[in-house]
Amino acid sequence: EGYCSPSGPIEHTSCAYETIEQVNTELFPKIHELVEHPFFRYYKVDLFRECPFWQENGFCMNRACSVEETEESEIPEKWRAKALSAVTVSSAEDGPSSCYFRDDDFCFIEDDSTPDGQYIDLALNPERFTGYAGDSSHQVWRAIYKENCFGLSEAGFASSLAGRGGKGPKEVLASAVVGAGGVSTPNDNGWGFSKLSEGWGTEMVKSASAETCEEKKLYYRVISGLHASISIHICAEYLDTTTGEWKPNLQCFVNRLATHPERLSNVYFNAVLVLRAIARAAPYFRAYDVGVTPRAMLAKESCSTAAGDRATRSLLDDVLSIAERSDVASGFDEAAFFQGPDAPILKEQFKTHFRNVSRIMDCVGCDKCRLWGKLQVSGIGTALKILFALDDKALDPKRNPDLLQRSEVVALFNTLHRISESLSSVEDFRQIYAATQAAE
Ligand code: FAD
Repeated sequence: EGYCSPSGPIEHTSCAYETIEQVNTELFPKIHELVEHPFFRYYKVDLFRECPFWQENGFCMNRACSVEETEESEIPEKWRAKALSAVTVSSAEDGPSSCYFRDDDFCFIEDDSTPDGQYIDLALNPERFTGYAGDSSHQVWRAIYKENCFGLSEAGFASSLAGRGGKGPKEVLASAVVGAGGVSTPNDNGWGFSKLSEGWGTEMVKSASAETCEEKKLYYRVISGLHASISIHICAEYLDTTTGEWKPNLQCFVNRLATHPERLSNVYFNAVLVLRAIARAAPYFRAYDVGVTPRAMLAKESCSTAAGDRATRSLLDDVLSIAERSDVASGFDEAAFFQGPDAPILKEQFKTHFRNVSRIMDCVGCDKCRLWGKLQVSGIGTALKILFALDDKALDPKRNPDLLQRSEVVALFNTLHRISESLSSVEDFRQIYAATQAAE
């Protein structure tokens, strides 16, 4: 009782919440297993680049913030810097398989082939509560939302962080959402949690829909969805400091997510966006070498690693088929964005802002948060590139086999995993909440 699920179409998509939830019950076990496979679990990232925007003093010294690196010798040789730098890069005259569209990257790409950076076994470094908080993390979030740069974000963030009272757009909006007087009403937010409170996100989405163009809303939704997804992981794997146990923290979820339904809605939105990108590039991924076996040995088909490679391939195929399900893949229409006379300028602006976000990640004062922040920005950047910068010709694996680097593929599928796990945790929290209600 008092429990209901969100329903109807997710704004900016023709997908319903129910569809995404249904798809996620199928997707989550597959993608959860896929990211355990070697191709997807080792990610090379430079965690020691300096923050280019401000002096970062807030380094998190908690153990939970630290990242366990992997020795390069444990990494399959075919991805290692030495092996890759030995590959001859083809020139522009060699045809479309040379690196074209590099200019279209939406983010700074971590690269297997550079000497900088460390290999990380993602499975050994789960994204969860680290204790990183306060001014340092707020400064990073503020800078990221400021990249929205459309005149709406800064005031909202500043006021929400300062807990400003008084009459402002927040109060006006709260009344609009929950009825006259801004009084919260039970069970009216559609997420099964009784208290609806106004928040900065609500404010932004409502003001954004009234005043800004689709691309600006897109930027905001993607960032807010990423932020919400990170918050869900924090709440789902929270450290109970009294017992030393890692477990879900319902109050954390209620405070950060459930009372801000639009934040949750942005996670669903990101699910549709990333699934659509993966569906669009599915033929490309089907041709991608996701194995660890050196090409020369693959021909012999004798070693046991080839069987492992086949298992990776088969799981990837399952994930691609789920993404290609027509009700999901057609749920997002990339052609609705970046149209009209301002399209090239808007696209350029969007790209610049998103690239800045990937640089802002160097300012995150907690290694583990920086790792997952970088990976997810890169994953979303790759999805945006597939949706908005590449046409079908470019995505043709025969014409353009080197279009995406391994790190981009790893980031994209791990980002889908992060989102999928978030949606799965939302369901867990609904059940925990229902159980506490029943016990009262
Ligand atoms: P914050 O999450 O810091 O949010 C600040 C303000 O932004 C809120 O007051 C609210 O007004 C607004 N806001 C919050 N969520 C949304 C949303 N979804 N949409 C729109 N507006 C919103 N901590 C960990 O424990 N583990 C991690 O792995 C981790 N990873 C991080 C990665 C990055 C890139 C960053 C910048 C921080 C990370 N943190 C992590 C810190 C974490 O995100 C929070 O900043 C911290 O837990 C403090 O939370 P808070 O309640 O003060 O609000």
